[in-house]
Amino acid sequence: EEEILHCEGCGVKLQMEDPLKLGYVPEQALQKIPVICQRCFRIKHYNEMSSATLNQDDFLRMLGSIGHTKSLVIHIVDLFDFEGSLIGGLQRFIGNNPVLLVVNKIDLLPKVTNWNKLHNWVQKQAKENGLKTEGIVLVSAKKNIGFDRLLRMVEEQRKGRDIYVVGATNVGKSTLINNLIRDFSDLEGELTTSSYPGTTLDLIKIPLDDGKSIIDTPGIVYKHRLTELVDKADLRYVLPDKPLKPMVYQLNEKQTLFFGALARFDFVKGERQSFTCYMSNAIAIHRTKLDNADKLYEEHRGELLQPPSSDKIDALPPFTRYPVRVAKGSRTDILISGLGWIKVNGEAGADIEVHVPKGVKIAVRTSLI
Ligand code: GDP
Repeated sequence: EEEILHCEGCGVKLQMEDPLKLGYVPEQALQKIPVICQRCFRIKHYNEMSSATLNQDDFLRMLGSIGHTKSLVIHIVDLFDFEGSLIGGLQRFIGNNPVLLVVNKIDLLPKVTNWNKLHNWVQKQAKENGLKTEGIVLVSAKKNIGFDRLLRMVEEQRKGRDIYVVGATNVGKSTLINNLIRDFSDLEGELTTSSYPGTTLDLIKIPLDDGKSIIDTPGIVYKHRLTELVDKADLRYVLPDKPLKPMVYQLNEKQTLFFGALARFDFVKGERQSFTCYMSNAIAIHRTKLDNADKLYEEHRGELLQPPSSDKIDALPPFTRYPVRVAKGSRTDILISGLGWIKVNGEAGADIEVHVPKGVKIAVRTSLI
């Protein structure tokens, strides 16, 4: 008589007939010891598989294939780089499927933040960028904030459908999915490891109990984000990991701020006023006279002005310059995608020029805080 096998990860009865049902294991995997079901395998190996990325064309093609499904789409964006991590035209590609906008990394904002106001800001910003959503959830994947609400919204919106998770690289997608897997699964404790044949690196399906799945898609690499242009080793300077300590500078006209050697902010014209910099505290900010700025950059980039250090600086595209006029009485942020933003506090208006490596996106917006 045939022996009944059980998964050594979760204990479920194994079967080889239906990949959509619990306990599925492909025949080849039975040769491996210990034997675990596909679900356990994917949960166990999620971290090793989740680094796939796509360029723009392939990414849009992938989104197009979501358009042929009936699913719920979770679009995860980085609060720290909202405009830079939003997928432009998402809805056009994914058809009529509902979108839940998940805004990650809220732990970077001060504890005293008015979250209702922030929620409204996100709503307005999403609308201005042409994104229609079924809901907005503010979370911190890293600090496990906002997950109760996220799970509730997902269950409400999902209506028995698959969940596709889409986003740009470095927005925290894998951190979030790791948490979702934990919350959606009843698995406890250590799973046993086994190598598993026939796993695709493109779409990672994490089976749910009702036969549907959470499907993780490769992240899109947006070259307009500084995070994707800097050397991998410099990411730890650029990506903040602690709540931001805003740095306030009182500047006269014709003064310049350097953010390492990654970007430059010239206050060209206007009354003396304050500018607040929201970026990783690991970035050294250097103030100088506008007249000296070119020379300082030529002579000290990669040294006094870093990151990046001198051995990595030539990998960055050369600076291009964007003039920004901030109107009188407006509350304006100038976002440098992937680096952070500068809040212009002045009532008087200001003429500014921002220098960033060619291709990096600049966004001028109503202040986030
Ligand atoms: P993915 O490329 O979208 O899968 O992003 P990862 O999950 O690998 O995260 C990218 C970076 O963002 C890592 O350095 C994470 O530690 C960090 N990160 C992810 N989630 C959060 C969060 O909620 N808050 C903060 N501060 N950092 C986060």
